[in-house]
Amino acid sequence: MADSVIKITIAADAGYCFGVRDAVSLAYEMAERHGEVYMLGHIVHNETVVKDLEQAGARVVKRLSDVPADKPVLFRAHGTAVSTWEEAQELSMNIADATCPLVRDIHNEVRQLEQAGYRIIIIGDHGHDEVIGIASQVEKAEVVATAEEARRLGKLKRAGVVSQSTQTLENVQAIVNILMSKVYDLRFINTICFPTKRNQEQIKDLAANNDLILIIGSFTSANSKRLAQLALERNENSYQVTGAQDINPRWLDGVATVGISAGASTPDSIIAAVTKEIEKLAQRQNKDVSYG
Ligand code: SF4
Repeated sequence: MADSVIKITIAADAGYCFGVRDAVSLAYEMAERHGEVYMLGHIVHNETVVKDLEQAGARVVKRLSDVPADKPVLFRAHGTAVSTWEEAQELSMNIADATCPLVRDIHNEVRQLEQAGYRIIIIGDHGHDEVIGIASQVEKAEVVATAEEARRLGKLKRAGVVSQSTQTLENVQAIVNILMSKVYDLRFINTICFPTKRNQEQIKDLAANNDLILIIGSFTSANSKRLAQLALERNENSYQVTGAQDINPRWLDGVATVGISAGASTPDSIIAAVTKEIEKLAQRQNKDVSYG
């Protein structure tokens, strides 16, 4: 008979968001139909998915000119700069557009804000593809990544603010608070996407109510790192893992409840493998597993 039970709770929205799921499916579909499909950078920040896609015929190139004339190019979920769209259209390329509709909404918002005379501020990571894509929609945009950067801004008469879709509410709130004291006419549109909001709310709840927290995601995924940071702020027994192989068996010592979440670029297969590994480790400690 088992000594005790470990309860595992997996966040309801752990893993692929619908935007990434659709983009990955489109990449497989195009690769199958055309033999190969080309992308300007990886479609998701996850090594396992990237490897599997490569085997299926999805290739990554640096420039559009590297794409063979008879093969399609796939524009990724987090959007593509206007100049790249124009170049592809001039070259009459076969474009498979996987831009997430929620990213397209952000593009529309900044264009409207600019037309209404607002100076554009994007809360997001410098150099991130999504941020570059948003900024390219307008003539001029300022990217602000942190509260420190916001503090360095001068006074402004009118500013329209949006955020990268995967920002944390905490970072956006901190920056908007500072902007309120600097901008006379401030318009803020909360463009953190709803799958990100849900995932962040769920991890806060899990971190507060479980002994051990595991966030599954590549260390190149900003979204996974943000989830790990939110968990760690609430539960010091939180770890980011890329897969089952990263789990230290000692993390389970004295643990009765485990909360699991995963970034938007983590496939279901890796979440399942991590869960299985916990079951195996629990068995070794003569514990049963239940699911919350
Ligand atoms: S994180 Fe949000 S905005 Fe980005 S692809 Fe997923 S659903 Fe779309």
